[in-house]
Amino acid sequence: YGAGSGYGAQQGYSEERSSARRVADHYSARSNQTLEERENSPIIHLKKLNNWIKSVLIQLYTRPGDCVLDLACGKGGDLIKWDKAKVGYYVGVDIAEGSIKDCMTRYNGDTDQQRRKKFSFPARLICTDCYEARLDEYLYEDAPFDICSCQFALHYSWSTEARARQALANVSALLRPGGIFIGTMPDANVIIKRLRESEGLEFGNSVYWISFSEEYAEKKFPASRPFGIKYKFHLEDAVDCPEWVVPFHLFKLLAEEYDLELVLMKNFHEFVHEYLQKPEFTELMRRLGALGDGRHDQSTLSQDEWEVSYLYLAFVLRKRGQPPSQ
Ligand code: SAM
Repeated sequence: YGAGSGYGAQQGYSEERSSARRVADHYSARSNQTLEERENSPIIHLKKLNNWIKSVLIQLYTRPGDCVLDLACGKGGDLIKWDKAKVGYYVGVDIAEGSIKDCMTRYNGDTDQQRRKKFSFPARLICTDCYEARLDEYLYEDAPFDICSCQFALHYSWSTEARARQALANVSALLRPGGIFIGTMPDANVIIKRLRESEGLEFGNSVYWISFSEEYAEKKFPASRPFGIKYKFHLEDAVDCPEWVVPFHLFKLLAEEYDLELVLMKNFHEFVHEYLQKPEFTELMRRLGALGDGRHDQSTLSQDEWEVSYLYLAFVLRKRGQPPSQ
């Protein structure tokens, strides 16, 4: 690994760059948890629910042998999901050096037991800023990809128009015609609704808080300035860094400029209601243990965790064009 983090001193530190650096440092500093620490996390069931949602997306849209691009792959928490989907090749990219190292350790197996049971696909890991770098320059030998995934991370690209465009340009340039882009990110509609319902500029519950600056005291967000709407997000035992609002209708329009057409967009609550009906996914939920016996009755997932899941949405886009004939 090591295409370079793209943060050479000669490049200077603009405000955008230092925000991106803050995000990278935050994730880099998060150490791998032991199994016991993970099980004791105040958001363990939310983490399991998120894993279920990512697994459902992967199972719905991946075919055996697919070539996968995992943007903002983090510590490789989805490697097992891709293995279960029997993918043929995997490229993971992340800005956080620490996460890429952890991802590599996970891929190679960090215990004797894991080392015996290697992943069945070859992989390449790259440490760079997915929203600044032209990824086609790094990946011209690996492209085109059948599927691109960006889980819980695309909102970090909406700090400026240039970064949001680079993110979509990268996806579009690297997907084959008919290729699929799946992802999860905060649901701006819910966040802005919650902000307007709250008395001040902050809202949350026992496991999260979101805080907007005085700049947004009027709680107005003109459509003419859709990028750079920053807030601070804190999620217990997971996130503590700046994030950016992604107005979904504008995201959809911008994606169309890059030949990426919307296939699906669902808030997590709607997603759970819909896919939990399907027996294969009910069974997966039971195995993961996020919702106890398969109903979100809070027997395991707390009300506060369930509220956090309402802050997110899942999306699927398709690259225009006919897939090459087999
Ligand atoms: N996708 C992984 C998952 O679902 O487990 C990790 C999600 S984590 C919430 C967000 C990830 O986005 C972090 O690993 C962070 O380093 C990465 N990230 C944030 N900004 C990025 C950027 N500009 N380029 C690449 N990765 C970025």
